[in-house]
Amino acid sequence: MRKTKIVATLGPALDDRDKLRAALEAGIDVVRLNFSHGDHDTHARRLRNVRELATNLERNIGVLADLQGPKIRLGLLPDDGIELTNGSEVILLPGLEELDDYRSGGQVALPVVYGALGDDCEPGAMILIDDGSIRLVVSRASHDEVVARVVAGNVAKSRKGVNLPGVRVSAPSITEKDQEDLKVAVDLGCDWLALSFVRRPEDVEQARELVRQQGGEAPLIAKLERPEAIENLEAVVAASDAVMVARGDLGVEIGPERVPAIQKQIIAQANKDAKPVVTATEMLDSMINSPRPTRAEASDIANAIFDGTDAVMLSGETAAGKYPVEAVRTMARICEVAETSPHLVGPIEHSPVAADDVVSVVARAAVAVSRDVEASALAIYSITGAAIQLVSKFRPPVRLVGLTPQDTARRRTALMWGAEALLVPMKSESVDLISAAERVLVDGGIARHGDRIVIVSGTAGSSGSTNRIYVHRIGDPMRG
Ligand code: PGA
Ligand code: MN
Repeated sequence: MRKTKIVATLGPALDDRDKLRAALEAGIDVVRLNFSHGDHDTHARRLRNVRELATNLERNIGVLADLQGPKIRLGLLPDDGIELTNGSEVILLPGLEELDDYRSGGQVALPVVYGALGDDCEPGAMILIDDGSIRLVVSRASHDEVVARVVAGNVAKSRKGVNLPGVRVSAPSITEKDQEDLKVAVDLGCDWLALSFVRRPEDVEQARELVRQQGGEAPLIAKLERPEAIENLEAVVAASDAVMVARGDLGVEIGPERVPAIQKQIIAQANKDAKPVVTATEMLDSMINSPRPTRAEASDIANAIFDGTDAVMLSGETAAGKYPVEAVRTMARICEVAETSPHLVGPIEHSPVAADDVVSVVARAAVAVSRDVEASALAIYSITGAAIQLVSKFRPPVRLVGLTPQDTARRRTALMWGAEALLVPMKSESVDLISAAERVLVDGGIARHGDRIVIVSGTAGSSGSTNRIYVHRIGDPMRG
């Protein structure tokens, strides 16, 4: 049983239904709908296919909608792109989609789809294009144009990303496009909502309000990819329901050499706060074109697991690669083997749990009990999934089975380390909770006659009341 969860980005490479089915069977736990690409109909169609296949395959699959955020891009360029040569000056034209003429007064001119570029940039600021493959330094900036010198040249292509690492970007964290996409994601019933380029806890709070206004309650994932978010790490993690180490843009913004240590810092903070953490981007990058991973990629995935990540993510590998199913299978295998290693983080010692945080106290104790009685499973009743997440963070050494009456809560557990979940109606009497747990664990092939199981529950039917640990041997009479 693999414990680390796999998030896979959907795209043309998995639009074939048989391929998608094979990729789900190969181990996808959560699919990512990337709202940076594709229209709303495409996302709706992909979500429908995933939900249908999940039902057919009897798999618990979560859906994560990922909002683009204030990503700055070049506008449209001629088909072959435009060569930028070292030492030359280029003119960037803010707020334009395309130009009639890509030369201006003998210099190259490029449209940038961000109207405040000239207002935000100051002379000396660095502008990175296409994941940093082109670097410019600003010479002069006004509202209407930015003149910059090319310090690392390359061919600029349409729609490539533009990063401004040292610049306080004034664009709102949730753009107009994000607001539209957020509504669609909530209406589609997505299980998680990811926010790109989060800077401050207020960005997450604003998104939460928008979700609420739309009548949704999807939990929020802050993508940590801006330097400001790292500076405000504790507060951003606290404001979020989960986080992502978004190494792609993070590496462009702060330099790839700083990514490994920051990855560890983010994972540690998320674990301390008992929030799921996803490690993302380029995990099997070479598999976009090759059926086999590099040794470095295998090491990278394993090391993220040793750092304590809950989930690992595939991006281009499954969205646009040549070997999407193989990539999922490869990732699943690397996870499984890493989990048998002594380097795997053991039960996480959280900072001391507060005496009045009864759910955490009970969750931690239940993990110890399940280990000491050699239980075949630790089953926990949870209405929202929050208690399942807490137990998951204590890294139980036995199977962790969430029991919930809600489909939404069940699907949220798809992102939580080691958590499985079954749909079980809530009962008001303890003895009924125990017998229902016994029945679903036996029916699900998780426990057999004579096995000990540990059941965690609360005051039946009321959320946040987890306060009981019950050790039960399957087949023994129930006592309430
Ligand atoms: P993206 O986010 O793939 O949506 O850009 C992840 C990252 O930047 O690593
Ligand atoms: Mn990103």
